[in-house]
Amino acid sequence: MDALIFDCDGTLADTMPAHYLSWQETLAPIGLVFPEDRFWALGGWSAEAIIRQLAVEQGVTLDPARVAREKDRTYARHLSSVRPIPEVVAVAAAARGRTPMAVGTGSTRRFCEEILRRIGVAGWFDAVVTAEDVPAGKPDPAIFLEAARRLGIPPSRCTVYEDSDPGLEAARRAGMARVDVRTLRSAGAAPIPVVAAVLERDGRTLVCRRPARKRHGGLWEFPGGKVEDGESRLDALRRELAEELGLEVQVAGPLLFTATDPGASFIVEFHRVEAAGDPVPAEHPMVAWCTREELAALELAPADTRFVQHLLRAR
Ligand SMILES: [Mg+2]
Repeated sequence: MDALIFDCDGTLADTMPAHYLSWQETLAPIGLVFPEDRFWALGGWSAEAIIRQLAVEQGVTLDPARVAREKDRTYARHLSSVRPIPEVVAVAAAARGRTPMAVGTGSTRRFCEEILRRIGVAGWFDAVVTAEDVPAGKPDPAIFLEAARRLGIPPSRCTVYEDSDPGLEAARRAGMARVDVRTLRSAGAAPIPVVAAVLERDGRTLVCRRPARKRHGGLWEFPGGKVEDGESRLDALRRELAEELGLEVQVAGPLLFTATDPGASFIVEFHRVEAAGDPVPAEHPMVAWCTREELAALELAPADTRFVQHLLRAR
């Protein structure tokens, strides 16, 4: 993937307790009820959209814009309690300066920028798109599509980090890959599966050089990538090798080795693969067919280094 787009509230910053408190303080005096399950279900919606929805459901007549301003005033008083979400900020820190990054939030610019400053990530992002920049909020894909447009990266090459169902739906409609940070957090940074293809012909193994501006840029790796939600390992290998190299995977498996990537939440699975066609690199600047000795001499990415050490030991 070529760009990362982060939601702000509940993804980069733990603002949800502050939001929940300010909603209760704002809505209780005007007789609107906002139970916690509804609060989570409407994550990513703009304040005005939430108020309008609750008012319709509960038969209350009010001015949504005025109530939204009151909620904002209350929220501003709770901002000092906001903390970064370390698992997600670590992803941004690792990609910073290598990968184009944006924030796509249903919040307002004023609050978003204040929060980014408070959690120490102001200036990390090439674009910040807020609810004020687009005609419709999440689950409409407009916020994420606008972020991709400002980054100059096609939506299909963006990965969205999100904590809410409407936000994940917006990313899906935008045609983007998605990371549900709730799973990242609840499992204490549960590893994200990555498949790597071990393709051998005539005693030589195919490896690819990573683009300079990516994580581990310039290092060599086995081709592959993240397994997406609901995808089998075979599907992921087929998709990645078709996208990256124009190869048609015919057989995948067995699993040869797994390695974690230190400092990231990835677990890389190395699968033996048979594929038709000659590799035509679409994403890598270089590919090479290497003997074991040549592999041992290459500068490889960390997980790939461990796999090659395993291969050499296994001989
Ligand atoms: Mg959120």
